[in-house]
Amino acid sequence: MNREDFPILDSQVNGRPLVYLDNAATTQKPLSVIEKITECYLHHNANVHRGVHFLSQDATELHEGARRRVQRFINAGSSDEIIFTRGTTESINLVAYSFGEAFLKAGDEIIVSVMEHHSNFVPWQLLCERKGARLRVVDIHDDGTLDMDSLRSLLSEHTRLVCITQTSNVLGTVNPLEGIIREVHQAGVPVLVDGAQSVPHLRVDVQALDCDFLVFSGHKIYGPTGIGVLYGKRKWLDLMPPYQAGGEMIEKVTLEKTTFNVLPYKFEAGTPDFIGTVALAEALDYVDRVGIDRIAAHEKELLDYATSQLNAISGLKIYGESAHKASVISFLVDGCHPYDMGLLLDQLGIAVRTGHHCADPLMQRFGITGTVRASFALYNTREEVDTLVRGIDRVAGMLR
Ligand code: PMP
Repeated sequence: MNREDFPILDSQVNGRPLVYLDNAATTQKPLSVIEKITECYLHHNANVHRGVHFLSQDATELHEGARRRVQRFINAGSSDEIIFTRGTTESINLVAYSFGEAFLKAGDEIIVSVMEHHSNFVPWQLLCERKGARLRVVDIHDDGTLDMDSLRSLLSEHTRLVCITQTSNVLGTVNPLEGIIREVHQAGVPVLVDGAQSVPHLRVDVQALDCDFLVFSGHKIYGPTGIGVLYGKRKWLDLMPPYQAGGEMIEKVTLEKTTFNVLPYKFEAGTPDFIGTVALAEALDYVDRVGIDRIAAHEKELLDYATSQLNAISGLKIYGESAHKASVISFLVDGCHPYDMGLLLDQLGIAVRTGHHCADPLMQRFGITGTVRASFALYNTREEVDTLVRGIDRVAGMLR
């Protein structure tokens, strides 16, 4: 669907038409986003917020319009609750540093799950080391679904925050967050949601979810690299200290003391990526034009088709069999190292990802070192799934 909007998809790789199945790592960009970046540099480029001149005010309006666009996209209550960052990783580090500074002390606990990306694992591990706190890790079932009993057994009066992904970048599992957040809130504990793999693929409404923080990256939702979002409830953001210091985030600076700007600027030190924010807003417009529900339905169809085709390959095992799953398939084929499989598929023009997918704890949980991962976006087709399946068959024959 809408393939013609993505010029790069016409590329040839190793003499074959590109079959791009590495969308969980990053998505390709529609022409409208690429053109928006050029248009901004051609017509709207000046530093935001500080200028009295026309171009600066023009750029500021576009940048702040982008913030309101993100607010509408995830249905946040206020655009003050939308902080622009470099991406999911920086958003999580911001919370780990700032929330950790305000609310974590020795003996406290933070809960993550074993399916987290390193971005939603390592910042918490380091924070716990700094503070003498303890990181607790929720287990999963063998089918890749979250073990709710494990979560319940870890929740206690020591828990200060639960950090969990909405969709696993390896297993594709979509966690039942509404129920999880309700239960965790009943214990008086806030929840941070890693939306890197969910916001591009399903409708996310932060007020319906009632999450305390949501983070995601622009580049995984057809937007540019280097721009991302932290949504936080105002009640937390107000109490959290700044993450970085510099221009923009101050109210008044004297030789003795600095007071801080209001939300969201308190967390946005320095010149923001105002071209990136406007291009991200264009990407969200694009997604809305196509329709997130249509995208989800199309990707579900591809997932179901690919799953049945891959299951027919002898010796192939899929990791992640949740009934509620996003369009990510991780697998191993008996006798084939994932790295070799990835290299040889590339010779056929097929781009998949191999390795630990920045989820070492999850690999350890399954007793493996890596998988091959195919992940779909709105522009992928059944024919590409067929090409993948034929490719795996052929490569497995060569490697065995
Ligand atoms: N969380 C998840 C679930 C991811 O899939 C990724 C990207 N692979 C990240 C976090 C990190 O995103 P970024 O590299 O854009 O900061």
